[in-house]
Amino acid sequence: MDTRSIVVFSGAGVSAESGLRTFRDSDGLWEQYRIEEVATPEAWEHDPARVLHFYDLRREQVLSARPNAAHEAISRLQKHYNLHVVTQNIDDLHERAGSGQVLHLHGEILKARSTADPTLITHINGPSLRLGDRCPLGSQLRPHIVWFGEEVPLIPIAAALIARADKLLIVGSSLQVYPAAGLIHYASPSCEVVLVDPNEVGISRAGVRHIKRTASEGVPLLAAQWLKEANA
Ligand code: NAD
Repeated sequence: MDTRSIVVFSGAGVSAESGLRTFRDSDGLWEQYRIEEVATPEAWEHDPARVLHFYDLRREQVLSARPNAAHEAISRLQKHYNLHVVTQNIDDLHERAGSGQVLHLHGEILKARSTADPTLITHINGPSLRLGDRCPLGSQLRPHIVWFGEEVPLIPIAAALIARADKLLIVGSSLQVYPAAGLIHYASPSCEVVLVDPNEVGISRAGVRHIKRTASEGVPLLAAQWLKEANA
């Protein structure tokens, strides 16, 4: 077993071929919704039913989606490397493909949390979360999602993982959503950094290898190389 470590930093593009659309594909909209109307604390204040409805639709899509070849290739790497996935995605496709160590920077669509105590997190049973669904303290449950304008509490843990990584794979992220996008700068100078994205992505680090293919084409190719290297 090679104990070298890999961090996969994934964004919406890794799930695109599973049928979950990215921001960029939809002109900065998320499935026809303006983000500030559904993914901010102000939106929740103003119209919680609309916010819940938006996330119910996202949850339904996630429940009917399946992991693709990229999620599966990533999980194969854990046989030979200490693998951590740091994802901006709120879907559970990395886990369903078998990856064991997944950090969801922006939360998880299949979970809800208390509006009174953010540490009270629960699985959502069924496709929808409704006004009147309450935590054990009696407060309304909200989606377990980090909204725009909110703290991203897992950033320090993710930064520490990336700082220790021997290899960093960035896949399907436009690197435009901060603070998550800034995490790649924690990679050490000796870290091998590979980007898989069919489009140009602005990345200021020198020496990054860009595999200009979709996730389901590019990630299995890279994983095969890294597995061969581990077995050599
Ligand atoms: P983004 O939409 O800003 O960028 C997506 C990137 O994926 C782009 O660089 C695009 O070129 C690339 N891409 C498109 N199709 C691809 C493919 N088939 N294979 C590989 N790459 C592909 O996404 P982001 O950087 O993740 O930031 C958007 C935010 O939206 C995140 O915070 C995330 O939480 C949220 N989001 C999540 C989901 C999900 O959970 N599946 C879906 C949409 C948006």
